[in-house]
Amino acid sequence: MTTFQDLNLSEPILRAVTELGYEEPTPIQAQSIGLMLAGEDMIAQAQTGTGKTAAFALPIIEQLDTQAEGVQALILTPTRELAVQVADAIAAYGKHNRIRALPVYGGQPIDRQLRALRRGVHIVVGTPGRLMDHLERGTLALDTLRTLVLDEADEMLNMGFIDDIEFILQKVPDNTQMALFSATMPKEIVKLAEKHLENPQRVTIESEEMTVPQIRQIYYEVGGRNKIEALTRILDIEMPTSAIIFCRTKAMVDELGEKLLARGYAAELLHGDLSQAMRDRVMKRFREEQVELLVATDVAARGLDIDHVSHVINFDIPLDPEAYVHRIGRTGRAGRSGVAITLVTPRERRMLRTIEKMTGASIQRLRLPTIADVVVRRREAFKDTLRELISDHEDDGTLAQYLILAEELGEEYSPVDVAAAAFKLLLAEPDLEAEDPLSAPEPEEEYGRRDRRDRGSRRDRRSSRESSRTPRGRSFREEGMTRLFVDVGREQGVRPADIVGAIANESGLPGRAIGAIDIFDNFTFVDVPDDAANRVLTALARTQIRGLKINPTLARPKG
Ligand code: AMP
Repeated sequence: MTTFQDLNLSEPILRAVTELGYEEPTPIQAQSIGLMLAGEDMIAQAQTGTGKTAAFALPIIEQLDTQAEGVQALILTPTRELAVQVADAIAAYGKHNRIRALPVYGGQPIDRQLRALRRGVHIVVGTPGRLMDHLERGTLALDTLRTLVLDEADEMLNMGFIDDIEFILQKVPDNTQMALFSATMPKEIVKLAEKHLENPQRVTIESEEMTVPQIRQIYYEVGGRNKIEALTRILDIEMPTSAIIFCRTKAMVDELGEKLLARGYAAELLHGDLSQAMRDRVMKRFREEQVELLVATDVAARGLDIDHVSHVINFDIPLDPEAYVHRIGRTGRAGRSGVAITLVTPRERRMLRTIEKMTGASIQRLRLPTIADVVVRRREAFKDTLRELISDHEDDGTLAQYLILAEELGEEYSPVDVAAAAFKLLLAEPDLEAEDPLSAPEPEEEYGRRDRRDRGSRRDRRSSRESSRTPRGRSFREEGMTRLFVDVGREQGVRPADIVGAIANESGLPGRAIGAIDIFDNFTFVDVPDDAANRVLTALARTQIRGLKINPTLARPKG
């Protein structure tokens, strides 16, 4: 197994990669980085979603002389979106290297680019047309160039950029290192490579014969910004007894874990930064079914052998088909049935097709559940719970103390009206007339449209808060739950995990029994089961959260 440390990258780059939460190189990175550092020309068959950007960007940054004048690396991309995205990625990878990277594309005022070019940049990422413009005007010189990358070469040819590319390649110094990345390898690409690359090394990601377990595989298309809302809705519909949710990075595991907790889903996290003792504890809780959801990276989940996993959810689509097979192999074990669910953003469609092709799997597309679907599902669950309560009461008198109340109201109103009013209170269903953030078409991933998307995401947040009052299986949480008030909040650095941790550790109440957690600037509300409320209060009064002594009390009822 190759690690980033094995790849001869220096400390600042390793640090940046760690900060981004990458745990290990993807196959394309493991193969390309060494070759590029060795100065080889290279043809790599790889598409978006495989980590190809870092495959060329890390060695470019590694070899950069930040003191020298002039452009040292040029990356050609088919679209301005990709140019901006690659430049952003380079900035992130080179965060500790004081590099300057500039995206250059048509549609942006040229004088802004001129000013930036004049100030001096190390790396230029651009679309062929605009780059050719600059070369013709003499505003971009390539005589100091050391590396040239053709990114998504097949796309550039499809878009008719071949003449522009040829023009640019004429201007490149003879000894420039060239790397060509392309999802497909049509004749024209091979010809281009033969003409311009010198003894290129070929990188393809061979994959072993893959056997996919016989489980139901489905996918949902989601906009990048709506993924968490989509996930919670899927959880509400599927009601998994035990699910592993895979993310691409440690950072995403942390972020998703925190958001799930904040919405009332009990989740444990697993990634490479945890101590062995922590991992053991997490695994024990998951194995013993004390938590339903385990959010993990590929590396952390490797080798997990748990029989009861009902669902594998790819919150982030895996970076290569083998990872897909490994992930979904966590469910359907020991002859049980399992479901594998993958969230796919529009940009990742192609990766999904590749996975289907390489694994021979047929992955069925489903439409995302609507709010109404979730409401119907919850009502069914609610009815089941009521049925259980009613039949239990005959034996154990659980309802005794409410019977008088029901009888009293039953004298004033029809029992059906009384029940309906009680259901309304208990279910606290979202407004079905409200706009569904998931049904609005998500703009294609595009820059310059941020405003609209930001507004959209604000709307999401509101509606997901609403649904956070009634997350899965807890739609009637108010019943049987007591709300506690804790006098620390966001300003004191409190996160949901702190509250869950303090309660679980001090009172022994399992995390999944804890209800909604609402963190405000200076205080926090947390719901716990009625019968545990006193125990939790006493336990919390003895403990500290984020190093602060706290004063927990019962929250005052509303109104
Ligand atoms: P790319 O194919 O370069 O567009 O990368 C696809 C996604 O994978 C991006 O979101 C990257 O941030 C992410 N990524 C790239 N390399 C790694 C890695 N080694 N581990 C985890 N995520 C990665």
